[in-house]
Amino acid sequence: MNPSATIANPGAVRPGEPVAGFADLHLHTLFSDGTFTPEELAQKGAQLGLVAMALTDHDTVEGCPRMAQACQSLGIEFIPGTELTAEFDGHEVHLLGYFMDVQQPKLLSAIKKFQDVRQERIREMVARLNNLGLPLRAETVFALANCLSPGRPHVARALALEGLCSSMDEAFERFLKKGRPAWVPKYKISALDAMDLLHQAGGLAVLAHPGLNHCDQIIPHLALVGLDGLECFHSKQTSTQSEYYLALAQRLHLAVTGGSDCHGLSKGKPLIGGVKLPGIYLEQLKQARHS
Ligand code: AMP
Ligand code: ZN
Ligand code: FE
Ligand code: FE
Repeated sequence: MNPSATIANPGAVRPGEPVAGFADLHLHTLFSDGTFTPEELAQKGAQLGLVAMALTDHDTVEGCPRMAQACQSLGIEFIPGTELTAEFDGHEVHLLGYFMDVQQPKLLSAIKKFQDVRQERIREMVARLNNLGLPLRAETVFALANCLSPGRPHVARALALEGLCSSMDEAFERFLKKGRPAWVPKYKISALDAMDLLHQAGGLAVLAHPGLNHCDQIIPHLALVGLDGLECFHSKQTSTQSEYYLALAQRLHLAVTGGSDCHGLSKGKPLIGGVKLPGIYLEQLKQARHS
């Protein structure tokens, strides 16, 4: 770890005390549905002057060792992470895990199950597309995804590359969006089980992009049953929403996190750099590991 990226004596950091540097704690690579390699992502972070980065690929921690190495060589602090799709009280929520032991067997076996289900879901989406007359093959999607956590963006990209749709957006609009004919719901672990899994692997559980979920009423419940933090800063959340979630996090004694949710070039301009989490919040997140 780069000494300049480490804040001396983090235990002594108090709210309001300035901490140098910014972090991005929500990032995807081609180990799930992003388009950058870990090395490319770390390089972009370095160019933007980030002092810390977390990798949060969907249902995988596979990219973490490479990202750790890339960050280390650039003097950036690395936080291992993931983004799990979960369910609470009938609502889909995304839980960001941070600081887990990415070798822990129980975590790895749960992740293997999520990935098997994702692969099965791809086959089901392709079967539906075939029934609609589109000659796409599941193998084409898997080859293009080239990762263990394939998802709808890979199907959309395959449809566009095969000339079956004019763009990824059109693929989502016509076939893959919720309610469209090739949409298949995603397997969701219960939020309680997901938080347990992350905690047992030595990690923290943070509610991703609450502003996109439209179910703020569940946040106090989640806080009572193990949630550690709230993603107050996110590319798709407004500054008004950030203020609201900051106040909520304070009221519920939740750590504050933030990140760009950059998926590389898959959704136009890379979002990295659009959200910069002040270092003080990362220090407080680290303290939450021991409280
Ligand atoms: P999945 O996890 O397989 O359900 O896929 C979810 C991913 O699809 C998320 O990263 C979304 O942001 C992405 N997504 C949703 N709509 C679109 C779209 N119109 N174009 C590209 N990606 C999209
Ligand atoms: Zn994604
Ligand atoms: Fe998400
Ligand atoms: Fe994400």
